[in-house]
Amino acid sequence: MSFDYDLFVIGGGSGGVRAARVAAAGGAKVALAEEDRYGGTCVIRGCVPKKLMVFASEYAEMADDARAYGWDLENKGFDWDHFKTKLHSELDRLEGIYRNLLKNAGVESFDARATLADPHTVTLSDGSTKTAKHILIATGGRPWVPEFTGAELAITSNEIFHLDKLPESILIVGGGYIASEFAGIMNGLGVKTAQYYRGAQILRGFDDEARGLVAEEMIQSGIDLKLGTNVLEMHREGDKIRVKASNGDESLFDQVMFATGRKPNADDLGLEALGIERGRGGEIVVDQYSQTAVPSVYAIGDVTDRVNLTPVAIREGMAFVETVFNGNPTSPDHELIPTAIFTQPEMGTIGLSEERAAEQETIEVYSTSFKPMQQAFAGRAQRVLMKLIVSQATRKVLGCHIVAPGAGEMIQLVGIAVKMGATKEDFDRTVAVHPTMSEELVTLKSPVRTL
Ligand SMILES: Cc1cc2nc3c(=O)[nH]c(=O)nc-3n(C[C@H](O)[C@H](O)[C@H](O)COP(=O)(O)OP(=O)(O)OC[C@H]3O[C@@H](n4cnc5c(N)ncnc54)[C@H](O)[C@@H]3O)c2cc1C
Repeated sequence: MSFDYDLFVIGGGSGGVRAARVAAAGGAKVALAEEDRYGGTCVIRGCVPKKLMVFASEYAEMADDARAYGWDLENKGFDWDHFKTKLHSELDRLEGIYRNLLKNAGVESFDARATLADPHTVTLSDGSTKTAKHILIATGGRPWVPEFTGAELAITSNEIFHLDKLPESILIVGGGYIASEFAGIMNGLGVKTAQYYRGAQILRGFDDEARGLVAEEMIQSGIDLKLGTNVLEMHREGDKIRVKASNGDESLFDQVMFATGRKPNADDLGLEALGIERGRGGEIVVDQYSQTAVPSVYAIGDVTDRVNLTPVAIREGMAFVETVFNGNPTSPDHELIPTAIFTQPEMGTIGLSEERAAEQETIEVYSTSFKPMQQAFAGRAQRVLMKLIVSQATRKVLGCHIVAPGAGEMIQLVGIAVKMGATKEDFDRTVAVHPTMSEELVTLKSPVRTL
């Protein structure tokens, strides 16, 4: 049987674009459909614009610090229009790059929504059909807002980059990394910021000591963080939103952003008719090679809800190409993934939290918290944390948790050592780089506790 293509990719985000390019570079005939903008969540409404907003929001403190160092600086405030215009022209530029990457790799792209008609056929929104030997679903996810009175007044991370003007006050609802990052961003930009989270502490799943410090510092920096608090209902009141909270509070905000989770984009794709299984959260169920229950159909990235990060979607895409087009069955490696949370202060983390590790075996915890030189000199009270979780039996570093400016950059490099199986003694025999914050990681003398 002959097909139009060797591979048809649905979704031009992080995972889809990479898989399409690599398969085409290897000689496969590849097409890709994208219903919105090339680059997907990460480039258009995720990692990239978010990080640029983090940068923008950090300048307020930098200006204060610079004055403390003797610079004669005048901070006349933040110009949202200026930043927004620049941000969106940068995103346009990046989208163009993604389109060109596909074109130059020889991938035929369609600006259309695609659905599955049968195991080898996709239907495009213009009504045409295309056949392919393999179909790869890389449709990502979207923000999810719970149903309650006034939910339609909420914005999500999709809209936050498009605000007509910077609000005077904002409520961010949620305790995950997106909610916590945007609380820091808005606060840094000078917006009166509150964050409500129904759980006992933000950043669930991460090391308790590390997330505790992040929360403490966020409160110190002026964020009105309310834990154990949920939104009950919201009503429009003039140009403000009245929010009734589960703790009895009633407050007015200019904007309310919900970052209460994401759902996979797997509805109305035609999966059920083909017998492609979906999990409890609606994600597409795949095996270790990203193959669905239909052998010709694979799925990667956020739509499979494994580890929802851009570099992971890319890895899954590359492993798919290796498996299907290079005859070398390869499972994406989901172990020991270093990650950064761009809160203020930033958190970098790899491996097991103290709590998780202690459930598994006897561990030694090495940890130090201090005021870093640069900020301390400027009179800023911010503390940082450097922490290692070590297996008592094997001496291996099972986890590393950093809360500090630049923690994301640090954890990338610590990640190499931890992934290689470095022991505490390997860390110890590495000479410190002085004076830095991260030198503390190689000079941690004795455990603060053994569990
Ligand atoms: C606010 C925010 C911040 C984030 N920050 C980070 C970060 O700092 N670091 C990090 O690693 N990750 C971050 N992420 C997560 C990251 O963006 C995702 O993990 C990543 O984009 C997943 O890639 P993907 O290829 O699975 O899907 P996506 O990038 O979501 O791409 C899917 C694409 O498919 C298209 N599509 C959907 N359905 C169809 C259809 N039927 N037909 C055609 N096209 C379709 C969509 O329009 C989209 O372009 C962030 C996410 C958000 C929301």
